[in-house]
Amino acid sequence: HEPIPVRELAQKLSLKMKDVGERVLRLGGPEEYYNWTPETKVDLDVAELVGLELGRTVKRMAPPENLLEYRSRVREGRGGRRVEWPLRPPVVCVMGHVDHGKTTLLDALRQSEVAAAEAGGITQRLGAFHIPGVGEGGEEGGLGITVLDTPGHAAFKAMRMHGALATDIVLLVVSATDGLQEQTLEVLRMLEEQWAEEEEDFRMQRGGEGGKMEVFSPSLSLMVAVTKVDKLHGEEEMQAALSKIEHALAAHGIMSEALGGDVQVVPVSAVTGAGLPDLLDRVRLQAEMLELRADREGPGEGVILDAGMERGFGMVMSVLMRWGSLVQGDVVVAGEQWGRVKKILGARNSPGKDGEGGGAVDRALPSMPVRVLGLRDLPTPGQEVIVVKSEERAEAVAKARREAAERRRYQETAATEVLGEEEQE
Ligand code: GDP
Ligand code: MG
Repeated sequence: HEPIPVRELAQKLSLKMKDVGERVLRLGGPEEYYNWTPETKVDLDVAELVGLELGRTVKRMAPPENLLEYRSRVREGRGGRRVEWPLRPPVVCVMGHVDHGKTTLLDALRQSEVAAAEAGGITQRLGAFHIPGVGEGGEEGGLGITVLDTPGHAAFKAMRMHGALATDIVLLVVSATDGLQEQTLEVLRMLEEQWAEEEEDFRMQRGGEGGKMEVFSPSLSLMVAVTKVDKLHGEEEMQAALSKIEHALAAHGIMSEALGGDVQVVPVSAVTGAGLPDLLDRVRLQAEMLELRADREGPGEGVILDAGMERGFGMVMSVLMRWGSLVQGDVVVAGEQWGRVKKILGARNSPGKDGEGGGAVDRALPSMPVRVLGLRDLPTPGQEVIVVKSEERAEAVAKARREAAERRRYQETAATEVLGEEEQE
């Protein structure tokens, strides 16, 4: 997120410093770009442009993927030099087998905590909602919880592949009466892959540093909600159902607290509301332990959850903020499109300036789901949104991304033709 010296950029992209410097110069920009030296620092969008032009992919280390890195930075900060970033709300993603009660649970969570502020009849294409925090005496305050609507497995996979996994906690929904089913296991497999990747990154990062042993802890954590417990009769059936599910989970390497592990398993009923406050408390507790932090001051970054035309608004894109801040008037690149932010609307149930849910907000901050007006064309969900310095630069980055995507598509088509249908995956 911070500007990167030309020297380092060249190194990271395995390119000659001279080539990188020349591109930086040709992009135009502040005067120091014209008289660049190896130490000249360039903004990340410039870095991306240079990379795209030279056929490289510049991967932003955006949270939560760089959680490990910024955790260690926070530690450094206690020495005095670096500022501690403020805590941010956790982002919870509800997943599980079809008909196990995801939608009903989401609805119950949405309502139980947020009966207030339903903006009058505006279609919400948000894909996320926010449960306000609870301050002392039960008033609003403290950190809230952002809940992502069930993205579906394909969407989740796509988000992982884009490196835009905007989730801190996966809340796995398991029906008390049906137990682990096919799609439940699919979620577990996906988590396993994610954890394996993170751990490998962790080892690579630590590998070169004199073998200092540190304990790996993944950025994505798991909680289990056992739903439909209202269908069980009495404490005995409840215990039996929970125990069965916990042992089934253990068979797949997921150890619940009851079995000596650290995965919380919470019985709930979305129909009676039983266990819901406990579930939210535990999510808050889990978030506290994860100590999720993000810079609020830098240029904003987020991930596109959804986008489309809305009557009376024009092009609206739903964004989950992950880093920095987004304000009205900011120029953004959203996937392969760009625009100038005309207006930012809060999630339906996080009050805006006028106290109305879904109303305008001044600033979008990390973990906030917002709707953004001002894009020119339809961006693709799952891709990232970044704030850049000028319209010229936004246009250039968007164009370079479109061209890179075009090249990829072309290469894929070519590969398909060479391989023939049978040999494709
Ligand atoms: P999804 O496919 O995971 O989104 O599942 P739904 O939320 O659509 O729920 C599937 C069915 O289970 C619906 O008929 C719900 O009414 C029912 N259901 C969901 N949660 C509960 C619950 O806590 N208790 C009971 N008794 N039924 C539930
Ligand atoms: Mg559903």
